[in-house]
Amino acid sequence: MDNILETVVNSKKIGIAGHVRPDGDCVGSCIALYNYLTTHCKGKEVTVYLEKIPDTFMFLKNIDKIKTTYDDNEIYDTFISLDCGSLDRLGPAERYFTEAKMNINIDHHISNTFFAKENHVLPDSSSTCEVLYGIFENEKIDEAVAEALYMGIAHDTGVFKHSNTTKHTMMVAGSLMEKGIPFSKLIDETFYQKTYVQNQVLGRCLLESILVLDGRCIVSTVSKKVIDFYGAKSEDLDGVIDQLRITKGVEAAVFAYEVDKDIYKVSMRSNGLVNVSKIATYFNGGGHIRAAGCTMMGNVYDVINNITHHIEAQLEYNRVHNDNSETNLES
Ligand code: 5GP
Ligand code: MN
Ligand code: MN
Repeated sequence: MDNILETVVNSKKIGIAGHVRPDGDCVGSCIALYNYLTTHCKGKEVTVYLEKIPDTFMFLKNIDKIKTTYDDNEIYDTFISLDCGSLDRLGPAERYFTEAKMNINIDHHISNTFFAKENHVLPDSSSTCEVLYGIFENEKIDEAVAEALYMGIAHDTGVFKHSNTTKHTMMVAGSLMEKGIPFSKLIDETFYQKTYVQNQVLGRCLLESILVLDGRCIVSTVSKKVIDFYGAKSEDLDGVIDQLRITKGVEAAVFAYEVDKDIYKVSMRSNGLVNVSKIATYFNGGGHIRAAGCTMMGNVYDVINNITHHIEAQLEYNRVHNDNSETNLES
């Protein structure tokens, strides 16, 4: 098929969903596709689902159309998964996806499991928003679509600085800027701005962080009790791992927060030598070589020991093989 969206042309009832705990790329891609289809494919019924919508994204056009409840028994002609590396990432939308007559997986995770009838997965793309840009017809991208795509790309690249940023990414971003979007405001208000609570929790997590493996790995954890004390939501913890990663001298950063008694959401970042996607996949999670995550059970010490053991093994393997080359997208 030339264009993955050709399937959509023959569908009347279309469903879209992104992953649980939606991030900027997930929300941006869902809204971009929703706005694109509702503007350019008239006569179709399009429904978009997300587990929740972080407050920062409320300004996006038609964000209020996103359904956050899953109580209907709809059967879709085509259901599209966005920014999900595996089927379980769809959360409660998984059943709409599997019951749909046709389903499509549009994504950029290297760990993607090709779980759909039609899979459009580009691991060299910075973000699902960059993948969507390649699917959309440029002249049909209006300001609302451009804004959502730009925001998603900016978020997944850490504002065009992570190693997933390519010349192509910059060209796509440049083309989106030409649509007249308020790019500075978008980045400031959705990426850098923090609420008081977010700053408080960030400070607390940095204060509690420890260096392990001879200073080559930084680890921080936070219990549910502390999160609740600050009145923080899970998305309020999103920036913590990125701050840990930029600690001078570390090869890898690990952040674990307790979502429920002895259940931890683990985020990992690498500065080059460690492939964190491999570790996350081992623990039934996934992601990218330099940014990955998983959910783990057990007490906090076991969780951290298990993860750092894998990081140590990779660092040791590199040392023995005298391989200090950075992991890259091809590996
Ligand atoms: P974060 O640490 O920011 O939550 O996630 C980093 C990357 O890993 C993201 O690309 C995200 O999609 C992926 N990721 C995080 N947690 C999980 C998980 O539990 N399962 C899978 N498959 N991917 C995850
Ligand atoms: Mn995502
Ligand atoms: Mn993404």
